[in-house]
Amino acid sequence: MSAPQHEVAVIGAGPAGLCVAAELRRLGIDVAIYERRPSAEPGSRAIGVHPPALAALEASGATERMLAEAARIPRGIARTREGRVLGEVRFDSGRRRFPFVAAVPQATTEAALAFGAPTPIRDAEVRRLAPHGTGAILRVRVGGAETEVRARAVVMAAGAEARSLLLPVARLRGREYGDRYLMTDLRHAPGQPEDLAIITLDAAGVVESFPLGYGGRRLVAWDGPLDGPGPGGHRGSGSRAALDPDLDAAARAERLRVAVAERSGERELADRIETASGFGIRRALLPRMRSGALFVIGDAAHEVSPIGGQGMNLGLLDAVTLAPALASWLRRGAGDTEAERALERWERRRLASARTAARLAGLNTSLGRARSPRSHRMLAAGIGAVAGGPVTRIAARAYTMGFDRHAA
Ligand SMILES: Cc1cc2nc3c(=O)[nH]c(=O)nc-3n(C[C@H](O)[C@H](O)[C@H](O)COP(=O)(O)OP(=O)(O)OC[C@H]3O[C@@H](n4cnc5c(N)ncnc54)[C@H](O)[C@@H]3O)c2cc1C
Repeated sequence: MSAPQHEVAVIGAGPAGLCVAAELRRLGIDVAIYERRPSAEPGSRAIGVHPPALAALEASGATERMLAEAARIPRGIARTREGRVLGEVRFDSGRRRFPFVAAVPQATTEAALAFGAPTPIRDAEVRRLAPHGTGAILRVRVGGAETEVRARAVVMAAGAEARSLLLPVARLRGREYGDRYLMTDLRHAPGQPEDLAIITLDAAGVVESFPLGYGGRRLVAWDGPLDGPGPGGHRGSGSRAALDPDLDAAARAERLRVAVAERSGERELADRIETASGFGIRRALLPRMRSGALFVIGDAAHEVSPIGGQGMNLGLLDAVTLAPALASWLRRGAGDTEAERALERWERRRLASARTAARLAGLNTSLGRARSPRSHRMLAAGIGAVAGGPVTRIAARAYTMGFDRHAA
């Protein structure tokens, strides 16, 4: 039997993979998605979808499908434990097509993207990837048997964990931040504002609270350095193993309850917490997103701290902007100067956007760490002093990905 042959093979059915496959298909390209998981990931990571991604996905109808389920957040405040507002950023100033950040569970976003994409071939793990003539060849393990797939182009959108597929070709620039966080999504959060993101900056570490579309709320709290004791010196909370989703879930929920109650004063909200997950954060940037007929997008190409919430959005913008350039390259043939230039431009702009997002996420991460009462007071005073001026407008633009090179 001859190997299946596609114009484009996409590796990974996360948001970036689904998005690029749907966009390519809309452009009439034959595309298949290979996904190692037997079913879609139920857990939620990304919730914030920013205006540039909403604008980019409008033509496919994905934006409308997401917004049907999303909370619309037109503003955010930074406040202290005592409830003093240090500053407000507005995402609805000026004339913008989408004057808000949409908050929607990642599974809903993926379902909205999957609408136009081919059904992923599941339980199909790509184990090897090699150039073949002007295209590429994949070794895929499908349901226990290994098979070969040929494609004129491959889009690798398999997330951070699958970068080893690219090695040793790709040199990685990366580091682990050494912070860990606790997170929960509450189904109900009565009495909480449905249009306001609240960031409580506290000497013991940040607590973030975001509306979710169904009247729920996402809570995130800084939980100490990896391998160090948690805030308040909680024993046993500081090891990397604390990030294991099956380990000590009750203790994690309790630490999050304490953090939310003590740092933000929201005791009622804290009492609603029944479960919590933990996560650590890394920064990793590939120096290139293309090698011949291989394109790397999403977390596989750039992993940024989720504090600031831009990782998925970067991947969506990679995908939407790659699709037309790749479709034209496939139609005109490898070596066509104009098509090559468009792909070079795409790569340059996406690499620059990823570097900007990584810097902003790094800044956000450092603002949210625990600090001495004295440096906390200085930070709060500094934010209070610049609030309302041009810095606030720059912050609003930065938080909503207005500095992305493909922001409309
Ligand atoms: C707690 C948390 C909160 C976050 N919040 C936000 C937010 O609010 N906004 C935001 O923009 N971002 C956020 N992010 C980041 C966001 O979740 C990621 O950037 C996004 O999921 C990356 O999408 P992706 O498609 O590139 O990769 P992934 O979502 O990792 O998908 C990759 C897919 O590839 C599959 N795969 C892997 N290896 C193979 C293989 N060898 N063969 C076949 N398939 C394979 C995987 O099973 C997976 O389905 C958050 C992250 C975390 C951890």
